[in-house]
Amino acid sequence: MNILLLGSGGREDALAWRLKQSPSCAELIAAPGNPGISRWAECVAIDPCDPQAVVSLAKERGIDLIVVGPEAPLVAGVADAARAAGIATFGPSAAAAQLEGSKGFTKDLCARAGIPTAAYERIETVTAALAALDRFAAPVVIKADGLAAGKGVTVAISREEAEAAIRAAGDGPMVIEEFLKGEEASLFALVHGERAIPLASAQDHKRVGEGDTGPNTGGMGAYSPAPVLTPELEARAMREIVLPTARAMADAGTPFSGVLYAGLMLTAEGPQLIEYNVRFGDPECEAIMPRIQGDFAALLHAVATGGAFEAPSLTNDTTMTVILAARGYPGTPIKGGAIRNVDDAGTRDGVIIFHAGTSIADGQLVSTGGRVLAVTARGGSLGEARDRAYAAVDRIDFVDGFHRRDIGWRELERVS
Ligand code: ATP
Repeated sequence: MNILLLGSGGREDALAWRLKQSPSCAELIAAPGNPGISRWAECVAIDPCDPQAVVSLAKERGIDLIVVGPEAPLVAGVADAARAAGIATFGPSAAAAQLEGSKGFTKDLCARAGIPTAAYERIETVTAALAALDRFAAPVVIKADGLAAGKGVTVAISREEAEAAIRAAGDGPMVIEEFLKGEEASLFALVHGERAIPLASAQDHKRVGEGDTGPNTGGMGAYSPAPVLTPELEARAMREIVLPTARAMADAGTPFSGVLYAGLMLTAEGPQLIEYNVRFGDPECEAIMPRIQGDFAALLHAVATGGAFEAPSLTNDTTMTVILAARGYPGTPIKGGAIRNVDDAGTRDGVIIFHAGTSIADGQLVSTGGRVLAVTARGGSLGEARDRAYAAVDRIDFVDGFHRRDIGWRELERVS
């Protein structure tokens, strides 16, 4: 089949690489793609968030399956438009994408379906929020919602800090919730309607600095699997969180189709839902793709169309992805910095380097800012994957870049 992949980041480079190796993949087109993706796909410069442009390109090129990488095209209704045009699409409708877009929507769904998650209140004004603090013990979590999003999430250690966060957010929809204690892990499930299967687990590293310090980023590294999410806990998370969500979405007339990424807190009482994303994580996707065996394109087509689908076999090894970002990220990153020796570093045993934010200028690979490369390695153990990943990182010449040296530290401390 002919496949159109939407997106231009490291996640999409990993998806393109994996799709291209699938026996059922004939032509692979990426829109808009990037220099890394152009190794496996033809890149076409259209706006992936423009439903009409996507549908026209798909029709022109005889596309049998559209795979949506990032959330923005989903929120823009690209999956709805493509399905309405009769093209199989991997990715949820705009209505089902609310699981990521609205924290209030997801919390209400959890309450209705009895899904374990932090106790919460949805609040609209600063005055009501300050009063609501009486009903929560510190620490407490303050989350801006809907249009106020972007102001983000504050884990307030004290009541004073919570009050400051509420005042800083101002009037507008917000969620106040109980602080959950435990370790975080991500579970990726493939869902169509009421059917859901686990795909893989991973753990990411959101903070920019070593030891999980400094501001939040899109993610500075990941590894898969996440051994803290034991097979028992994974089964429990599927049973208590993912499957009831799929059922509740179907019951509400907004069935989910695609990959559901559950951000979990593994508490003493079991897994609890922190948040959903409605697409693969980045960089978790770069760590997961090398572990998936079999015909991945056929699997995504079956999920998209509601055909029979089974959990794929995964390799027994562990993968680690280390992000190289442009200096200044996540603030104001330096753009245009030259990157050399990437191809050579990528020839090392068990290593694959995905491109996240690169372009070619005068024949030279340069950074476009933000997260730039996702260096991924596999190993018989997490330690071996780490050693290989950093050996490859060290061969890359990227003067204007930086990376964290401690990806996987929690798990590596546990095993040592
Ligand atoms: P992102 O999509 O970048 O993960 P977000 O803005 O959607 O972030 P959440 O994922 O809901 O927000 O929260 C961000 C982080 O805050 C979580 O990864 C977790 O570390 C912490 N957090 C959120 N809710 C809680 C909670 N109830 N208890 C403890 N920590 C929490």
